[in-house]
Amino acid sequence: MANKQIVFASHNQGKIKEARALLAKLNVEVLSADDLDLSDVEETGLTFEENATLKAIAASKASGLPAIADDSGLCIHALHDEPGVYSARYAKKMGGYPDAFKDVLKRLKNQSDKSAHFMCVLVLAFPNGTTKVYQGRVDGKIVSPKDGNNGFGFDPIFMPDGYTQTFAELSDAKKNSISHRARAIQSFMEDFKNSF
Ligand code: IMP
Repeated sequence: MANKQIVFASHNQGKIKEARALLAKLNVEVLSADDLDLSDVEETGLTFEENATLKAIAASKASGLPAIADDSGLCIHALHDEPGVYSARYAKKMGGYPDAFKDVLKRLKNQSDKSAHFMCVLVLAFPNGTTKVYQGRVDGKIVSPKDGNNGFGFDPIFMPDGYTQTFAELSDAKKNSISHRARAIQSFMEDFKNSF
């Protein structure tokens, strides 16, 4: 029986499953936004940290429990780190990921620099309003779409440095061992183990 509870302020079942698996080792019960019937928070921030903070503080206030929230996106260096915090909205505006891939490749056509990184910022908020910030980043390059059986979002066009397969082609376990999100969660876990 877990003796502590924490909220993971997301409706994304994949993220919640990952957080539950990791935090079970620390004897912490993870409650999701669905478990607590928390409403969605509008992502009005201009940075990953601002958006993650908005979501974490709202969930902590509503539940009276510590809450974590993350925000992430793809930053393409030759495009001034676009789409960044707007990654999900950009794909939607383009009419879906396949069309977003075409647009990205068109805009990079005459650029020699195809480098990019995924960024994830995780914020832990307490009911008294204090917050702690954790970050994870993975560097790589943009390639023509290569779909595997795995992944989501921009995974088919992102090839991490040191690999010859895209995030979509790598197994879930491999991606989860090197991804921006895994790195941010690891950093949170280290701090959690030492401080709570
Ligand atoms: P959010 O952090 O769930 O709001 O995700 C933001 C958006 O960034 C996603 O909808 C994707 O478009 C993109 N993104 C974030 N992380 C990943 C990833 O691991 N793979 C592919 N796309 C991602």
